[in-house]
Amino acid sequence: MITLLQNKATNFFERVYVENPFLYELLKISITYDSFIEYLRIFIEEQLSASAIAFAYAEKFDTVLFQQITWKEQGGVRLLSYIFNRKRTVNDFNYGGRLIEIDTLKFLWNDFNNIVTDTNEALANELIFTFRQFTGKLLPQKLTDEMLKELINKHKSGTDSEIVAIRKQNKDRIIRIFIEKIESGEIVRPNFSFPDGILFDEKYALMHEWWNDKSFHLQFAIRNVRLLKELSGEVISSETIELFIRAEKAGVPFFVNPYYLSLLTGKLLPSMPYADMPIRQYLFVSEELVDAFGTIVAWEKEDIVVPGKPNAAGWILPTEHNLHRRYPEVAIIIPDSMGRACGGLCVSCQRMFDFQRGNLNFELTKLKTRLKWSEKLSILMDYYEKDSQLRDVLITGGDALMSSDATLENILNAIVAMAIRKRAANVNRAEGRKYAEITRIRLGTRLPVYLPQRITPELITLLKNFRLKAMDAGITQFFIQTHFETSLEITPEAVNAIEMLLSAGWIVSNQQVFTSAASIKGHTAKLRQELNKIGVINYYTFSVKGFLENSNSFATNARLAQELVEEKEIGIRHSREFNNIDFYESTDKPKFIRDFLEKYNLPFIATDRNIMNLPGVGKSLTFRTIGLTSDGRRVLEFEYDTHRMHSPVVEMMNKVVIVESKSIHDYLKQIEQWGEDISVYESIYGYGNGVSEKVHKIWNYTKLPFEITGEFSNFKYPEEGA
Ligand code: SF4
Repeated sequence: MITLLQNKATNFFERVYVENPFLYELLKISITYDSFIEYLRIFIEEQLSASAIAFAYAEKFDTVLFQQITWKEQGGVRLLSYIFNRKRTVNDFNYGGRLIEIDTLKFLWNDFNNIVTDTNEALANELIFTFRQFTGKLLPQKLTDEMLKELINKHKSGTDSEIVAIRKQNKDRIIRIFIEKIESGEIVRPNFSFPDGILFDEKYALMHEWWNDKSFHLQFAIRNVRLLKELSGEVISSETIELFIRAEKAGVPFFVNPYYLSLLTGKLLPSMPYADMPIRQYLFVSEELVDAFGTIVAWEKEDIVVPGKPNAAGWILPTEHNLHRRYPEVAIIIPDSMGRACGGLCVSCQRMFDFQRGNLNFELTKLKTRLKWSEKLSILMDYYEKDSQLRDVLITGGDALMSSDATLENILNAIVAMAIRKRAANVNRAEGRKYAEITRIRLGTRLPVYLPQRITPELITLLKNFRLKAMDAGITQFFIQTHFETSLEITPEAVNAIEMLLSAGWIVSNQQVFTSAASIKGHTAKLRQELNKIGVINYYTFSVKGFLENSNSFATNARLAQELVEEKEIGIRHSREFNNIDFYESTDKPKFIRDFLEKYNLPFIATDRNIMNLPGVGKSLTFRTIGLTSDGRRVLEFEYDTHRMHSPVVEMMNKVVIVESKSIHDYLKQIEQWGEDISVYESIYGYGNGVSEKVHKIWNYTKLPFEITGEFSNFKYPEEGA
């Protein structure tokens, strides 16, 4: 029987000793820390010795081997990983890049020997659950179809009648306040003023008309706390308002349009007061962001561009601000126009790094197309044309649809002309030396969500006409890449916007950011399902990027891996049967998806990948946990995703180490506040490793009738330290 030591610095670790008598004995007989580690290693290796694969995986970070080891073995492998990686030093960019030495099991040793160390419950819980996994007491929670259905049905959609009614109430309140402000002269917008002498009812009707106009929402966007407080009524708590006041003083930008503000439900939905947390978390600043503002460190390194010099991914780019490139096949155009702005500001946006230096993209009047843009556009097109590998043009910003129709049309026409030239130039190139031709165009936009009023018949005509012209130039794939965070954003207005976009013959795909609010069980599955219903296919489910400033919305990579295995898995079944070619050609996409789901009895089609955008280059969910910080945050070592083509730079790069910004314990405490039963999340601790999913064939590039040259133009290995 174990007699627990008395007067210890903490009691956090008691359960580890009580539940694992072998560990207690090993600690007792060890004279030094090194001897304890040696005894423990031998003990774990003996337990794993029946599995040569588990053993081999522990030594070699190999995803093929990982997929063959059992859940229980993963616990042992993780403990070995803590042993093999002890004394490694890593930079913790959550705290200014400070160097920390990871030695996870030392915390246990110190505790046992009454050596006072600064540890906490988060760290102890990690150890408790890892030993439980190793000893077979922690199991994964596989869901049945029925259980997943129940989880999905817990969540609401923006088209549910009670949600529609709340939004109507919000809209009415916002409109009435704006009428007062226009009448009193507090708000003056030349394009939105009342004719003299009209009655209140007429003003009210006019405001409803304006509500359908995107310009109204941009001109009446809320940028200060006072107005936010007035317009939001009881929907926003006084604590949030206090935080906004602090944020305003610290210079954190804020921008929300009236339509998106009207989506908040808060206490107006008493049965689910936290249902709108995914929206709030996207809109409302957090303590951590306000505190970190001014010292935020850039996550993405390849965005730092010096024309003529290779970026972090090795690509030489022609201009400083208009092209981003990570991968060989695609480069992103960021126009010098309103397209640099967005219909609202997401607080976890990576551009906060820029915003803290005063580079604001929400001063809309200053973003009209500058004269020089036409020259730049021609330089960019020349770059695509002369590049051997580029075949995919992604226009973003900000937001591609923030550009006016005229600006957008101008860019799209330039792309068609370039695609024709690029094709023609290939005629004179020999087999094996031909360049990739442009086959895909994408518009990255959150406006179907933030501002569905932007999707007008004129825009649809433009997109339709462009598609026809572009098909003649060899472009076969047309994507609107949007960003719904929650099914609550799928409002009747958004449904209409998606229907219109689909009618233009474009495919609409979605990328969700897996914030802690969006990570609630069944939430992402519900979003996938509701999007499928309206003909949208899911592309990525992204882990939140950033360091401490985004820790509030960070859901941990373990939760992302858990969601993949325990919830999304059901939608992955038969997903390979989904015929991408027929889907592209289908004129009724919602029906096509519906028929497929009915045929295979699926809740949704999991065409998306759960993934993290790594700081530096590439995406991946192939990781293993190599250690823990004293406050229980995980230290993960990532490998590059092997399922897609990368820049050659990746071959010379080391694995990427990330110190997470939040512990699993803190994550669980956060979602518990929102009413979640965290006991059903327990297996999250067992996800110490992740493996990147394969890319679904729906995202494959159209095969060209020739071999593309293996030569990379516009590429150079970056200099060390660049
Ligand atoms: S829509 Fe995208 S670019 Fe715009 S604020 Fe949100 S995250 Fe940032």
